[in-house]
Amino acid sequence: MASPQNHVPVLILGAGPAGCGTSFFLSKKGISHTILDKAIFPRDKVCGDAISGKSCYVLRTANAPWLHEIFEHEEQFLPSRGIQFVAPNGKSLDIRYPDALRPGEKAPGFTVPRLRFDDFLFRKLDPQFADVQQGVSIKSVSQEAGLNKVVYQKEGKEITLTADLIVGADGDKSLVRKAFLQSQHAQKSDSVGLRAYYTGVTGLHADDFIELHFIHEALPGYLWIFPLPEGRCNVGIGMLSETVRRRKINLREVFQQALQNNPALKPRFENAVLEDKIVGWGLPMCTKQEPASGNGFLLTGDAAALIDAFSGEGIGNALYSGMLAADAIEKSIAAQRTDAAFLKETYDDVLYRRLGDEIRISATLQQLCNYPWLFNFVVNKAAKSEELRNTISGMFSDLDLRDKLRKPSFYFNILFNR
Ligand SMILES: Cc1cc2nc3c(=O)[nH]c(=O)nc-3n(C[C@H](O)[C@H](O)[C@H](O)COP(=O)(O)OP(=O)(O)OC[C@H]3O[C@@H](n4cnc5c(N)ncnc54)[C@H](O)[C@@H]3O)c2cc1C
Repeated sequence: MASPQNHVPVLILGAGPAGCGTSFFLSKKGISHTILDKAIFPRDKVCGDAISGKSCYVLRTANAPWLHEIFEHEEQFLPSRGIQFVAPNGKSLDIRYPDALRPGEKAPGFTVPRLRFDDFLFRKLDPQFADVQQGVSIKSVSQEAGLNKVVYQKEGKEITLTADLIVGADGDKSLVRKAFLQSQHAQKSDSVGLRAYYTGVTGLHADDFIELHFIHEALPGYLWIFPLPEGRCNVGIGMLSETVRRRKINLREVFQQALQNNPALKPRFENAVLEDKIVGWGLPMCTKQEPASGNGFLLTGDAAALIDAFSGEGIGNALYSGMLAADAIEKSIAAQRTDAAFLKETYDDVLYRRLGDEIRISATLQQLCNYPWLFNFVVNKAAKSEELRNTISGMFSDLDLRDKLRKPSFYFNILFNR
């Protein structure tokens, strides 16, 4: 039986932060589009559940009252005011985020289980401009005669859609990237992460700071404890896949051993209850500039491998790249051009002009994890110096400051208290 044939100008695959981000800004511009997701919302996504200032920036730009709604519901979205680094020597450093808060906002960021956050985003899709289809099964993604073609199945029916432009927002195993970027798809500097939900973890920071533990067991990765609403914690570990493979590390074992035996963690987990299974997922990290578009398509979020190589943060860049993709699509429609050169100029070049410095700095900082003594040194010094703590705090919002961390002069100066 011939399948029904439909044509849409813009088709987004994936309704996570990258897909929703793209859709929000297309709707703001009055551009109709279709968005398909294989999952049915609410759906889980393995993550640390920490939503950064960059995510807040994009949500604020999309629709400021959405952020107010979030901060009105602390029982669902826990305001996040700072970060605690624990160095390999066990010393900790509390860094409060610089907070120039806007009315209606309680903190620079927040934590929320992705099951809830992604559903919040999904419910904000505007039906006036977005034709939203969930629970679909994608059969194929291809290009024929310059047109994108997607065949999917929904409720037993096979549907074929053609589109002038396709946005790959379909996460780390993106079908769009696989179909269209195969030949240029360089080996990613991927990491793997495990996530577990616990209740009853003790010793949390009074202001619910998120915690990054650069303990020996986890290096060159780190273990995290992120307080969540309702007394829960997101606890996990992340490490470069290459290291896991090369050293034949059993990450699950390392994680559980650390919680049971690390002297700083053991007492805090003595009465903690693991709520569910420990689950893993890949993190496509951004270590260098790679193509994020081509003839008739754009990649956003994890599909474009935009996770920050140092912090593991990817939601902010997923939303942000979605916002920039919508700008590029608007230009593409106005110019009636969907060719690779045009999309590179209007999307990739803008994306990397905005994120390029961050990518370079984070890729270098990732290397710091190979030098535990350097971590110990900075944390020891910062514990004694308010000025240094303020400098590090500023690094969360100021790229020029963060860039200092890459330079030997930064360490030389703190060594001699300059
Ligand atoms: C262990 C771990 C911890 C992390 N911690 C943090 C953190 O604390 N903070 C942070 O900012 N980031 C974190 N990240 C990164 C963050 O989870 C991702 O960067 C983010 O989810 C990317 O959003 P996305 O929309 O690109 O992809 P996703 O969130 O993966 O969404 C992709 C969507 O596409 C859909 N999809 C997939 N395939 C198809 C298909 N074939 N057809 C249709 N739909 C499809 C999926 O159902 C999904 O809804 C973490 C990641 C991991 C693995």
